[in-house]
Amino acid sequence: MKLDTKAIRYLTAEDWRVLTAVEMGSKNHEVVPTSLIAQISGLRGGSGVHRSISNLAKVDLIAKVKNAKYDGYRLTYGGLDYLALNTYRKRKAVYSVGNQIGVGKESDIYVVSDEKGVQRVLKIHRLGRISFRTVKANRDYLRNRSSGSWMYMSRLAAVKEFTFMQALRDNDFPVPEPLSQNRHTIVMSLIDAFPLRQISSVADPATLYAQLMAMILRLASFGLIHGDFNEFNILIEEKPKDQNADETKGHGSDAVTVNPILIDFPQMVSIDHPNAEMYFDRDVNCIKRFFERRFHFISDESGPTFSDARAELSKGGLKRLDVEVEASGFSKKMAKELEKYMGFVGATGDGQTDESQKQDDEEADEDTEEEDPSDKEIKDGVEDVSKQLNDQHGRAQQSSDTG
Ligand code: ADP
Ligand code: MG
Repeated sequence: MKLDTKAIRYLTAEDWRVLTAVEMGSKNHEVVPTSLIAQISGLRGGSGVHRSISNLAKVDLIAKVKNAKYDGYRLTYGGLDYLALNTYRKRKAVYSVGNQIGVGKESDIYVVSDEKGVQRVLKIHRLGRISFRTVKANRDYLRNRSSGSWMYMSRLAAVKEFTFMQALRDNDFPVPEPLSQNRHTIVMSLIDAFPLRQISSVADPATLYAQLMAMILRLASFGLIHGDFNEFNILIEEKPKDQNADETKGHGSDAVTVNPILIDFPQMVSIDHPNAEMYFDRDVNCIKRFFERRFHFISDESGPTFSDARAELSKGGLKRLDVEVEASGFSKKMAKELEKYMGFVGATGDGQTDESQKQDDEEADEDTEEEDPSDKEIKDGVEDVSKQLNDQHGRAQQSSDTG
């Protein structure tokens, strides 16, 4: 699903109020009755509501639901995208949206810029998009579950990712700077680097390998396992070793420092997770396998093993970020819900082999022709945003010129 921002400039303040009303109504209604939309938007009585509804439906921000017992609408992913962008606009976090730079398995990545033209990255979580085949088999789990909706799960993934990125950044891990979070999206700093996946050779594979293993162990020393630590989620920044180094050193490859930056955190787990050892070993082995294949590098040292990781932890003295994160916005309950969902849809991150990934995608594509789940099961896609929405309501009145 593409983010098409063309229509955003043409929405009136009333359109925004109606869109917001559909979102709020979705909290308790799979299909939001037109009368409820009118009531929540506070535009009752006029033809304005109907005009706005038809404007929004025309640009696919809401969709009319046929065959329902009553006349109603549901929010689409596009509508949710617009609401998030509008919030960022008000916060001055995003001014314009540029190119799409990534299509992950369950996300879309865009370069955006703030009012001063500084480039940033907008990550839009779209859980359930690809993994539909597996989901179909588990439709019962998702049906009639308030927390089973695609939009709600995408929001959980965004909140989780942002919370972990903040905790990691605060503890000097090389990760993007988390800038803002709203609904199913986050805004972070743009890293001017390519994923390891696209790097054909490095001057010193042993050093980079050691850096990555050290990072895995350092995460463990704070109680964390990345869970998707692979060549797609490590960006390689190359910087001159010393900007002021004297000329005699020349510009050979050894004049360059290689900085791995870690991204993509929705699947991070605590080192106390029941499957922690499996996740830890998988992270380590992904890197081993990649270094062997790509750089023909095999380390002399075996490991690190999970017991090495636990040993790091037991040295103590460091914060437990798994515990801290739980207390700071991404609760155990949220973690459970997201994990359950990810387990059901078989979300294994982007560490899968190309072959199996391709096959999965093709099969998923066939199935999605039947119906688009991402736009279908969205009830209760929004939670705990009422306050924010009320604020928007208040402001919508005054901002008719900016809407
Ligand atoms: P997914 O969860 O879908 O795998 P990622 O967070 O891994 O999404 O991002 C997908 C791709 O987008 C990355 O491989 C990288 O190329 C690019 N990307 C993501 N975040 C950034 C960033 N902050 N700066 C630069 N590129 C990024
Ligand atoms: Mg990724």
